[in-house]
Amino acid sequence: MRNAKSFTLKQAGWKLLDGNRLKIGATVYKFAKSREIDGTVKTVTIKRDPLGDLYVYFSCLIAGQPIVRRMTGQSAGFDFGLTTYLTGSDGTELQAPQPLKHSLKALAKANLRLSTKQKGSCNRRQARRHMDRIHKRVANQRQAFHWELARDLCTTYDTLALETLNLQGMKALWGRKVSDLGFASFVDTLHHVANKTGTIVQHISRWFPSTKLCSTCGCLNQAITLRDRAWTCPDCGTTHRRDHNAAINIFREGASSHGGNPVSLAPASVDCRS
Ligand SMILES: [Zn+2]
Repeated sequence: MRNAKSFTLKQAGWKLLDGNRLKIGATVYKFAKSREIDGTVKTVTIKRDPLGDLYVYFSCLIAGQPIVRRMTGQSAGFDFGLTTYLTGSDGTELQAPQPLKHSLKALAKANLRLSTKQKGSCNRRQARRHMDRIHKRVANQRQAFHWELARDLCTTYDTLALETLNLQGMKALWGRKVSDLGFASFVDTLHHVANKTGTIVQHISRWFPSTKLCSTCGCLNQAITLRDRAWTCPDCGTTHRRDHNAAINIFREGASSHGGNPVSLAPASVDCRS
């Protein structure tokens, strides 16, 4: 693989040896295992990143196992945001980790620096390499964050309701930070984990006005702008935190349109039988 970025081997030409060693042709390579190999390996893909580091990916066939879920009795709706990554209808606030935020800042700076270097110059090549390195760090940190968050959510909640991401719209409103935080790839990761843990992930309609609806009285407030982090309902006078109000609406919409739990305005912990 002198020039290729990646190649895939199917049944022949490779052999997995013990001690994290992989034999391709006559050469034996040693690799660092990031995750246990689960199931029967079907294909082996070797990839090279812009920094020249090599990665090996095993795609595996896993025999179908019935999912046994330990129910937690918890469900919630979640709203995506830039300041708080996910806000839950139960008041949970989940932030993107500080190291990722730092790396994203460093990446923006490196990008700016690259743009000031003359094309074809040695300085530019160096600046490019620096940027690639930060890119890689960002990608790794973001991926680790997504996996951890997905696992946390799927073990805490039986059912999760989310908005259907409209990435074009979000980018128009929020700019490139949307791509930085990787909402779409988080949703993919969440589905992957949910499939394994037996967690239900509901997506509510993209046209559902989760932000503009008052979660107390149900009136629609068209006057809300993107800058309003908090607002007071003109009908019932309740003051809402924007993201939390949206998360409550997402949760209720999820529960009612998917035939889930009965929808109630009272907090889930209130016991009405007494
Ligand atoms: Zn209201």
